[in-house]
Amino acid sequence: MPKRSNDLDDLGNYFEDKPEYFEPGRPRTSERICVEDCLALSNTAMTRDGVFKKGPNNFWTSRWYDAAGRQTSALDFWVRLLPSNQLGLVLSYTVTDPNTGQKIPVEYVVEVTTPPCPFGGQRYWFQCSLLTHGAPCKRRVGRLYLPPGGLYFGCRICYNLTYRKQKQHDKRFDPIKPGSFHELMKTFTADLKTLHKLRKRIK
Ligand SMILES: [Zn+2]
Repeated sequence: MPKRSNDLDDLGNYFEDKPEYFEPGRPRTSERICVEDCLALSNTAMTRDGVFKKGPNNFWTSRWYDAAGRQTSALDFWVRLLPSNQLGLVLSYTVTDPNTGQKIPVEYVVEVTTPPCPFGGQRYWFQCSLLTHGAPCKRRVGRLYLPPGGLYFGCRICYNLTYRKQKQHDKRFDPIKPGSFHELMKTFTADLKTLHKLRKRIK
């Protein structure tokens, strides 16, 4: 649970600007959640909006809207320079407990990494803040997700998320298409004919 609130130094930085790691906090169920049902933070969108270019000590808000254009969620974040010399996003938001309706304030740092690009330029990645079997996940990802009922943003793997299309369409249960079966038989018959001809020639 977040604990810092006013621990700011003279420069307005947190005393402990370092990434922390959390249990996903959401019990794994047999029903997998789709990424489309989560709030997502995207490195592409942040790059486009100039979040990383503008650098540390800037304040931003991410907003989400429904199909009718009404705002459904918002999240405030600061960009900080961490002791590791990497950028960090200090995420700050409130989650409503679905059972009690209680508002839970959450605040923590997500590290942003910039591995060297072989073709120059710079790409920014988020480092997952969740714990997998008690160890920090630290996966470098382009998107972080907050599933319904979750407290912290994390990667798709940690939350065992799926895509809606994938959920609706499981190839293992695809019937054989009549067309493809017919094509297969045509090839098979053609091969048999070739074999027959070859046999005749050999005789
Ligand atoms: Zn993860």
